[in-house]
Amino acid sequence: MGTAKKRHSNIAIFIPHMGCPNACSFCNQRVISSTVSAPSAEEVGRTLETACEKLPDGDSEIAFFGGSFTAVDRDYMISLLEAAYPFVRSGKVRGIRCSTRPDCINTEILEILKSYGTTAIELGAQSMDDGVLSANRRGHTAAQVEEASSIIKKYGFELGLQMMIGLYCSTPEKDMETARRIIALAPQTARLYPTVILKNTRLGELFQSGEYVPYELDTAAELCADMLEMFEAAGVRVIKLGLHASETTEADMLGGLYHPAFREIVEGILFRREMEKQIEAKGNYTVFVPANAVSKAAGQRKCNILYFSEKGAEIKICPAKSLQNREIIVKKE
Ligand code: SF4
Repeated sequence: MGTAKKRHSNIAIFIPHMGCPNACSFCNQRVISSTVSAPSAEEVGRTLETACEKLPDGDSEIAFFGGSFTAVDRDYMISLLEAAYPFVRSGKVRGIRCSTRPDCINTEILEILKSYGTTAIELGAQSMDDGVLSANRRGHTAAQVEEASSIIKKYGFELGLQMMIGLYCSTPEKDMETARRIIALAPQTARLYPTVILKNTRLGELFQSGEYVPYELDTAAELCADMLEMFEAAGVRVIKLGLHASETTEADMLGGLYHPAFREIVEGILFRREMEKQIEAKGNYTVFVPANAVSKAAGQRKCNILYFSEKGAEIKICPAKSLQNREIIVKKE
């Protein structure tokens, strides 16, 4: 059956995407779906029962993830919602979230989701460039992302949008434009996924034939740093940046933009940029950062410290309880 585990106060239930009509260039769901069986409604009910015993009431959400929840067989989708709804009604969980494709949203589906206590819907937008969507065989357009986002918001659901960075036929400029158009749709949350090339995918073939050349990891990290700033400035929570570090992913990948600490790298870049505004001359500096951000501010393998050292500025990073997020205070010795 599908796995369930507590993650960021979500009880995550993996629904492999049986019968997905698509074969997106980057996706190996078909391969995964052939080896992972879909959970029955009874199994989901039992899993939720066990998970809820260990969690405080009203603290978590049930998250149906893995494929396109609203594209699975309708009766099966409803049976899963029926299994989950009693936990919402009793107040054991806050609500249900699911992820799906933009072309698998309509008012009828939204009515069903709403009636079973669904609170948040995430759409895989991936790109807002029709050429990139078509080159990666997504089977939907950017206009469909806009249309689905608009009705999801009209129905009062929390909207999440997912985008990929560095897809086949994309460029950093096209990715930035995608980020801008996603922000314009005013989602509450976003997930940014630098493209990872998996085995048994079209992208894998294009990569092996030399037709698809992924960005350098550094390029992707700098680009994601620009985007993270933009999303945060617009008040959109970036709940994921980079693919989840898991053994399965690492075993399945051929290349592409993967690093187990990708978000840390990106946040390290933002700390470096912040320091750069305040460290102009050679000398010794103490940089105070939030107590939980000392290693991020130092950068991967202390790359930020080395970066300034090469410019003649020796920096020491110290924790300060009064600072939050990426606030820093720089003092020249
Ligand atoms: S990304 Fe989603 S829509 Fe595309 S092939 Fe995979 S499961 Fe199907």
